[in-house]
Amino acid sequence: MRPVAGCTSRQSGPREECGVIGVFAPGKPVGRIALAGIIELNHRGQESAGIAVADGRRFALAKGAGIAEVVFTFDQRVPELEGQCLAVGHNRYSTSGALCDAQPLEYNGLAIAHNGNLTNVALLREEYPPPSVDGQRPESDSAVALQVITHSDGASTVERLMNGLRRLQGAYAMVLATPGALYGVRDPHGFRPLVLGAIDGGWVLASESAAFPRMGAEMVREVEPGELVAIDSTGPTSHQQAPLSPAPRAQCIFELVYLSRPDSVTFGRAVEPFRRRTGEVLARKAPVDADLVMAVPRSGIASAIGYAASETARLRGITYEEGLLTNAYSGLTRGFRTFIQPRDRDVAAVLKYSVVEPVVRDKRIIVVDDSVVRGSFRHVAAKLRAQGAHSIHLRVACPPLQSGCFYGVDFGAGELLAHQIPEIAARARHLGVDSLVHLTWRELVEAAIDAPLPDWDHHDASVFEAHGFCGACFCKRYPTDVSGAIPREKPDGSARGEPTARTMYWEVP
Ligand code: SF4
Repeated sequence: MRPVAGCTSRQSGPREECGVIGVFAPGKPVGRIALAGIIELNHRGQESAGIAVADGRRFALAKGAGIAEVVFTFDQRVPELEGQCLAVGHNRYSTSGALCDAQPLEYNGLAIAHNGNLTNVALLREEYPPPSVDGQRPESDSAVALQVITHSDGASTVERLMNGLRRLQGAYAMVLATPGALYGVRDPHGFRPLVLGAIDGGWVLASESAAFPRMGAEMVREVEPGELVAIDSTGPTSHQQAPLSPAPRAQCIFELVYLSRPDSVTFGRAVEPFRRRTGEVLARKAPVDADLVMAVPRSGIASAIGYAASETARLRGITYEEGLLTNAYSGLTRGFRTFIQPRDRDVAAVLKYSVVEPVVRDKRIIVVDDSVVRGSFRHVAAKLRAQGAHSIHLRVACPPLQSGCFYGVDFGAGELLAHQIPEIAARARHLGVDSLVHLTWRELVEAAIDAPLPDWDHHDASVFEAHGFCGACFCKRYPTDVSGAIPREKPDGSARGEPTARTMYWEVP
């Protein structure tokens, strides 16, 4: 293994926080199957890609900086071992740590691919500092988790893993492997997704079901929150973590809004229909006369189509049009080693989109975006105006993002536009739009569960937990104690001003 070096590729939206893959299929090209999986999960992380394979006795591992196809076309060969039986794959977008933290990580016969962030990592790191690799000290919480687990005792591997996992707090969906067995585990709250699939002669694990078709796999089921699935030559067996206190489900609702691919089934919910429903709600709740509705591609497309399909839009003759394009071959779109530094996010937002001038000129436009994070949409609005748009009405398929995420998504409170400019009319002016409408917390949950809530049901922040979701970045009510999380820094190096949380459902002002 050589240390990866050289690129960060942060862009204007929220960045995903890693994709994980596991393959157990003796006699099959497990490394190649894992590669197919991480290629399909590249939207979850483009900073590095890696694959470890094992043959029952040892691991072979390769990883590098950039998207999976590039790493395993130009820099690395997919690792192979005679008699190989399993593989672990990983795409990384770092929310903590350095590039030497590229995964999978392997230590003392245990390999790990991790998605999420631990909230007690500061404490754990003091007790279990990760050893240096090629002169670099890994900084990520995944490296700490690996140390905690490998230093845990148990009569069996499952017991050892369970004892280690019990010490971790926060968000984790992990694929772990010894040289002869594969393990998939979700934290007891189930923040991050993990699904189990079947292939000819074996079993696979993935962050999202969208990875399965290319891997030649079929979805079997979700790994449940708090469940550990152990897979060896006898097949999968299920084990339940025994948390010290009951852990309510807190599945990240932002996975449905933005992170997951539209062709995935995440938390048991098909993502594309959910996003269409958000567009229908936006059309119904704030009708506006316009000539067309369009999306900020790509994650706003399903919501814009849902908007256009609504009765409100049909009655007004509002049709879906493609007024903004992204170049599928541009590195800005593909995360292809573009060396976009954080300070260049605004530049990236300008370059990434092309306006189709004949579509927008002299038109009253509704633009649907999945979310407004840092406010780079103002550059898109300026481009639309420059190409002759008459008016721009921005509709956002989630509530305003107000607070940082401690569970693995890369934004902190201080950089969020709604945190900086709380008043919605002022935000609309800042973005350069004629009107700005978001979904409410309740409307988002209704779209997620595909059912209207009764009038008596929760009208406040508790609506998320009542239906098994985390919505803390919207409502500032954290499902766990986050006081042990390491505060991250803004791209410019100044503190992000993360909230402190101290109460039962850890609310912040
Ligand atoms: Fe997801 Fe937001 Fe909760 Fe983070 S804070 S896990 S992004 S819902």
